Amino acid sequence: MEVEKLNAWDKLTPAQQQQAHQFATGYRNFLTQAKTERQAVKLVIEAVREHGFQPLEAFSRLQQGDKVYQSIYGKALCLAVVGEHPIEQGFRIVGSHMDAPRLDLKPNPIYEESGLVFAKTHYYGGVKKYQWAAVPLALHGIVITAEGKTVNISLGEGADEPVFTITDLLPHLAKDQLDKKIREALKGEDLNILVASVPVGAQNVKARVKANLLEILHKQYGITEEDFVSAELEAVPAGAARQVGFDKGLIGGYGQDDRACVYTSLQALFDINHPKMTSIALFADKEETGSAGSTGMKSNLLEDFVSELNALMGNKFEQLSVRRALRRSKALSADGTVGFDPNFPDVVDKYNTASLGGGVVISKYSGVGGKNDTSDASAEFVGEVRRIFNQANIAWQSGELGKVDQGGGGTIAQYMARYGMEVVDCGPAMLSLHSPFELTSVVDIYSCYRAYREFFNY
Ligand code: MN
Ligand code: MN
Repeated sequence: MEVEKLNAWDKLTPAQQQQAHQFATGYRNFLTQAKTERQAVKLVIEAVREHGFQPLEAFSRLQQGDKVYQSIYGKALCLAVVGEHPIEQGFRIVGSHMDAPRLDLKPNPIYEESGLVFAKTHYYGGVKKYQWAAVPLALHGIVITAEGKTVNISLGEGADEPVFTITDLLPHLAKDQLDKKIREALKGEDLNILVASVPVGAQNVKARVKANLLEILHKQYGITEEDFVSAELEAVPAGAARQVGFDKGLIGGYGQDDRACVYTSLQALFDINHPKMTSIALFADKEETGSAGSTGMKSNLLEDFVSELNALMGNKFEQLSVRRALRRSKALSADGTVGFDPNFPDVVDKYNTASLGGGVVISKYSGVGGKNDTSDASAEFVGEVRRIFNQANIAWQSGELGKVDQGGGGTIAQYMARYGMEVVDCGPAMLSLHSPFELTSVVDIYSCYRAYREFFNY
């Protein structure tokens, strides 16, 4: 089966192709440094401050051209560049998510078994569990001590730092395992990370390796075993994002869903100085687990941010003007989607799937089993977005998340649509989505950046 579509490289001049590769270098650096939603928020705040953004609290009144940010518990982020028109007339928003599938340490993770110490995990988001065994893992996050101190832990990225791993069975003895369904080859409770192996003290003492580990943890971080109860520690694939292929046309790395859209919409916003309509970039958390929680899109975080902006523009708290602002806005739900993979042609409709290298993907709807749980963008709005991209000569393609009744998924589009704003899904196609090593195309990443920039300016 062949899928023939426009190749976005053909739309770029040699100078633009060069720019696309340069842009991808910055993007890879971001992926390498932002392994968790907390790290992503920290990095983005550093970057926006350099671009003249200030926290919401720094303003007593917002003027046209002001640049403002609001962190939501250090896990989600809203940014705005104040436009010429009153916010009541609506804004332009590109919404993406900071979180990515990973393995979270359980509240009581540490146990010793036959001289090895493991940490128990509970996976976060949609993972194929077998992909997480026999690969180096890094550990990132925070621990809150009994005294209330916050301890940062980040280990496994540097070449001289130790990593962690989940063991797998050798093929020689895997007869029974290999006869299992893939989903059962490794179960949720098998995702135990090997974290220590050296004992301490007298030979007749039990759990000597665990005792040694706890001593190391106390010395190095000042934490105790009970402190894991109040911790958020995430195991993620260790190592840097990489160029892929002899021609370096692809980017491989963890967390591209959805930090691809975080990075591209952020860089797009940096190009916006005096927009007509207020430009908002929103980076949500918890998308991969259904957007629940105080940092997810099912919370009031967008409404609250817009209320704050509205108040700082002199409208105090007026519910009607906030509602109007939200309802009259236009949104891109910026998220990674499936790209056609010639190794797995049967799961997509070849006439409606997106391809790697085909440019930014417009997905009118996502959803599962008969467009369930999707906002389904209006034809009028898809038409508008098409015109914006065409006018700027941006490579785009339309895409659908797999064959009808094959499966599917959702995005944050529906949580923006509930305010009555127009919204459509728009982001890069990916291969090996949700795996420890996701793939995107350099040219698609560049197309996303240009597409979001045009949308902010629209
Ligand atoms: Mn996503
Ligand atoms: Mn996802």
